[in-house]
Amino acid sequence: MDGLMQPRPLTIAHILERAERLYAHKEVVTAGEGRLTYADVIGHARRLATVLDSLGVPAGARVGTFAANTRRHLELYLAVPATKRVLHSINIRLSPEHLEYVAGHAGDDVVFVDRALLPRIWPSAVRLPRVRHWVVLPDGSDTPLPADPRILDYDRLIDGAEPFTGSFEDAFSLADENLASGLCYTSGTTGPPKGVLYSHRSTVLHCLGTLAAGFIGLRENDVVLPIVPMFHANAWGLPYGAMMAGASLVLPGASAEPGHLLRLMAGERVTVAGAVPTVWTSLAPGLAHHDLSATRFLLGGGSAVPPALSETYRAAIGVPITHSWGMTEISPVGAIGGTRTQHRDATEAEQVAVRAAQGQPLPLVNLRIADVETGRELPRDGQAVGELQVAGPWVAGGYFRTGEDGGFTADGWLRTGDLATIDAHGYLRLVDRMKDLIKSGGEWISSVELEAAISSHPDVAEVAVIGRPDPRWMERPVAYVVLREGGTATAGELTRHITPMVAKWWLPDEFVFTAALPKTGTGKLSKTELRAAARIA
Ligand code: ADP
Repeated sequence: MDGLMQPRPLTIAHILERAERLYAHKEVVTAGEGRLTYADVIGHARRLATVLDSLGVPAGARVGTFAANTRRHLELYLAVPATKRVLHSINIRLSPEHLEYVAGHAGDDVVFVDRALLPRIWPSAVRLPRVRHWVVLPDGSDTPLPADPRILDYDRLIDGAEPFTGSFEDAFSLADENLASGLCYTSGTTGPPKGVLYSHRSTVLHCLGTLAAGFIGLRENDVVLPIVPMFHANAWGLPYGAMMAGASLVLPGASAEPGHLLRLMAGERVTVAGAVPTVWTSLAPGLAHHDLSATRFLLGGGSAVPPALSETYRAAIGVPITHSWGMTEISPVGAIGGTRTQHRDATEAEQVAVRAAQGQPLPLVNLRIADVETGRELPRDGQAVGELQVAGPWVAGGYFRTGEDGGFTADGWLRTGDLATIDAHGYLRLVDRMKDLIKSGGEWISSVELEAAISSHPDVAEVAVIGRPDPRWMERPVAYVVLREGGTATAGELTRHITPMVAKWWLPDEFVFTAALPKTGTGKLSKTELRAAARIA
């Protein structure tokens, strides 16, 4: 027997219209541009809806964005899916080759691009003949515009358009909740980038999952700063989450300069912010010089947050960096760290270790670990290490326009490529990415654990450990270290520092001191580049 509840669709149109009805007065601040209200932003989104119609962008068409975190980008986040088109946020740091691949593979019909970023993408326009219009988003820059009929100005289009005054939500039937709403490509470190195609349903459920108390738990009186780019897995769902909760949004624009971000956090009394660990590392030296007393929750994800970094924040501003584990394929948030009641009696040192782990899955997300060789499920005892697999209503079930590629198990779970333990309370701890593990003499060394140990030395600002091919052991760890300003630690001192923390055979064969470490397009440490450089050296 079926239940008798209303069969209403889950849609991003609802997020838009709810914010319009309840939170019209709340603010969206874009650095360098000033403050608007949700009423203003949604008003623009309503005009953008008719602009898309007049440009002849069909339902289901992919609308590319090539933009920083700004309110115009947010308007696209709203209007594109609310009108049943698909928002394809393109990573602005892709190489021209990858950029052309993803825009071509997605079949983008129109691309919206920040004026300052136009020189990065315009040379590719000749190889993207399907893109009919390139709409330039004013960003305060005076980057010259090519004289080309395909180039249009966003503000001029918006100013000249009538707003759509009907209900977006009413245009959705129950079946429509499965329509694609967004498209993000994985970074393509292990092959061509793969497209993850989100639906309205998956996006709304993910939004509710992240809003759950005890996880990210955004609320109306929050001021949310997504430092994580809006082209990186939907900025971890923070823009939609903030709008659903009625929180104010602070968008940092194009600059990731530490002083700029710290001034924004202090000046706007930001309560919640999310960024990859390399960004939090860059902000750490400035913590003491800014009033960050409004901060209540900092999210770190995309790669492991070194415990010493999290503890630096806890000591300086009373708020640690909480692990957010996820993947583009998981919309992206799958689990949130932090202590739970089972850790109440843990010692201080144990609690630090708990905070260094990835935490519990969000409601509706299921996790399991499996033997890498046999695929057999492993026990949740906090000891067994296996490949992490994940299932849930906001987890990808396949990739856009690709054949079967081994990314899923026979029963449909996503294979994450991460190695992890899960304990009896379902608490997740990532050991390493499979491809970053160092295989030494038939045993495994976790690069993540070694990095955590090394970065607990006060002189160390950043560290990445990779395996160097070794004729005897297959691979041996080498640590690439960036010292803090004024830091004097030597290889000998770092070895002495970590000796009590790791097995003797884990000690790196070499410490290479360097001024900076290579980063990926999403700001994470790029071990691929480091490995390539190490082989040349
Ligand atoms: P990619 O890094 O491949 O460009 P994603 O941004 O989707 O793509 O990254 C997903 C991967 O990032 C995960 O499989 C995991 O290895 C790593 N990751 C994400 N969050 C965390 C976290 N909180 N701790 C450790 N690793 C993480």
